[in-house]
Amino acid sequence: MAADDGHRPGAAALNTALGIFGGTFAPLHNGHLRLALELKERLGLALVHVIPSAQPPHRDRPQVSAERRMDWVRLALQHEPSLVADDRELRRSGPSYTYDTLASLRDEHPTRPLVLLLGDDAANQFHTWHRWREISDLAHLVFVERPYEPPAPAPELVAHLRGRRAAQIDQLHMQPAGLWLSAHIPPLAISSTRVRRLLKAGRSVRGLVPESVIASFTHKDISLLTHDEEPAID
Ligand code: ATP
Repeated sequence: MAADDGHRPGAAALNTALGIFGGTFAPLHNGHLRLALELKERLGLALVHVIPSAQPPHRDRPQVSAERRMDWVRLALQHEPSLVADDRELRRSGPSYTYDTLASLRDEHPTRPLVLLLGDDAANQFHTWHRWREISDLAHLVFVERPYEPPAPAPELVAHLRGRRAAQIDQLHMQPAGLWLSAHIPPLAISSTRVRRLLKAGRSVRGLVPESVIASFTHKDISLLTHDEEPAID
């Protein structure tokens, strides 16, 4: 039985749109947190599910475990009731395809608008994702500017989205999926790569990463986060 199909008496308030924000979160940083909060408020989303990718299909698997990345998401969101730390990709095996994640959310919420939140770098690769065309049957797409990542959508994505642009935010709330729009939020030039490179150089990441996450870092976390070939920051 669906958790909230909107047919129960009094369920109307529960039937407002849900945001879905996936990432590797190695580690989660304040750019992630601000994106989720800004879009929750600007788009009028009831909740945003923040979902770490257990086995990212399009990049090398991070050295740091999915469980540890999930811990950081939980710590960062512990005082944010509108942001949900969602571990569903850790509970599946195989590559963590966004299509499968959205299909499982759609099973739980048959009629509720689902809104997938994507930074520009993710949007620029979207046409390479598993069953990417069908993703827009499951959710609306909202593209977010990211500093140093100019939007460069692939021609096949542009063709696929033609005629589906939401003229107003309200439209996202009127159907469960199928529309897209670009959202503007104040830019924060933070990336997990930069955080890892600072950690590698033994420098502070205060102000870039939530305090609760910094406080949880162990020597092992830092060693795993800084294990790969990325150079320490200058
Ligand atoms: P890395 O540097 O390891 O690639 P990242 O900082 O890009 O990591 P991810 O976990 O890969 O973080 O990103 C998850 C999502 O968050 C993506 O859609 C990405 O575009 C978006 N995102 C990350 N940082 C920002 C930011 N500062 N501003 C806007 N979007 C961001």
